[in-house]
Amino acid sequence: MRVTWSAGPQLSFRLDPEDEITGKASDEHPIKLAINSCTIGGVPEDAHPDLYAVAAWTVVAPWTRRRITFDRAISAELAEALHDGWGIEAGPVGAERRRPGARLAISYSGGADSVAAATMYPQAPFVHFRRVNHPRVPNRWPHYRSDVLAELAARTGRELSVVTSDLEYTLAEPRPGYPEHHAVVAGALLLADRLDLGGLGFGYEMGSRWLGGGRYLWRFTPDNPMWAPHGRWGRLFAAAGVHIVLPVGGVSEAVTMRLALGSPLREQVRWCLRGTGGPCRVCGKCLYKELIQAAVERRPLDTPVTRDSPVARKWLKKPPYGGQEMIQYGLARVPGIEDTVFGPVLDYFDVTEESTSWLEHCYPPALGEIPERWRAEAASFVEANVGLMTEDEVRRVETWGT
Ligand SMILES: [Zn+2]
Repeated sequence: MRVTWSAGPQLSFRLDPEDEITGKASDEHPIKLAINSCTIGGVPEDAHPDLYAVAAWTVVAPWTRRRITFDRAISAELAEALHDGWGIEAGPVGAERRRPGARLAISYSGGADSVAAATMYPQAPFVHFRRVNHPRVPNRWPHYRSDVLAELAARTGRELSVVTSDLEYTLAEPRPGYPEHHAVVAGALLLADRLDLGGLGFGYEMGSRWLGGGRYLWRFTPDNPMWAPHGRWGRLFAAAGVHIVLPVGGVSEAVTMRLALGSPLREQVRWCLRGTGGPCRVCGKCLYKELIQAAVERRPLDTPVTRDSPVARKWLKKPPYGGQEMIQYGLARVPGIEDTVFGPVLDYFDVTEESTSWLEHCYPPALGEIPERWRAEAASFVEANVGLMTEDEVRRVETWGT
């Protein structure tokens, strides 16, 4: 793989003979390359070469097999992280490594998890990724309202940098998206020198970090390659002086929902990518989040989705489901759930409030993964607003999927 950055900054890349246009992201999801260039706007034209390298890697990693050649020299530490993590020869080598900056920024999407992470660090600046069209790829997904999400982010009153990018259009199938989950911070990485960043906070919660949401469905994942600090991505980001920080990595989506709805940012919370004046209420994500919100608020489900709706079909199938722990949580807590679209799912689980109460507390090792500089603030927030898991509850996490 050969990577070039030009004014824009625009990233273009050329595959080597051994590279393939259908690759796999770190979550094992197969993805096909659509186009070999993208632009990242709202960032300075100059940053440490390791930041350019990591930003490029979040886009090109799935298609790279053996080596990558950057257009500027990287540090030996970064090359080593690429080699250790992926077995990739990276170069040229010749730069001094980047020292971590002093600040933590939140990669802010406006969803409940991201708002909860933001609430834990009231002083942290936001970097918001906004999708824009690619000049050479038709937009067949006009219902995705990135403009609405960017407007909501602007209304939070936080220090905000909006990064605009068409990098999701580098994917041909099944739809535009991040080649690697980490591509959401490609622009934030290029801002790291200007904002003096030493860490980037993501809204990934316990399901994604510890319970194998996605790739390892149904399995405890202490060594999650995407989000563990000792995983390959964690080490790569650290080598560039920008630690991956998961402020809400120890709590479930029930907790992030409760924290987000009780936060000063409540009015700006939005997980739906479709609605303009509010969430659409009929997409799969709205339905899933409504289950969690109803459970947190201990009220009946309030949704226009019926069992005949296409988005309800998923709940007629057998588990496992993505976010299964939250489905169980909802089944145990939403009054009248048996008469809703989730009714059929009750056949597969035997859950009670007691058996799902571990989802209301924080898994302590998650706090231990937050770099020391930012740990105390998270820990005191958790102590005041969430509480730590008991030993029994910790065991529920660590035996998940066995
Ligand atoms: Zn929706």
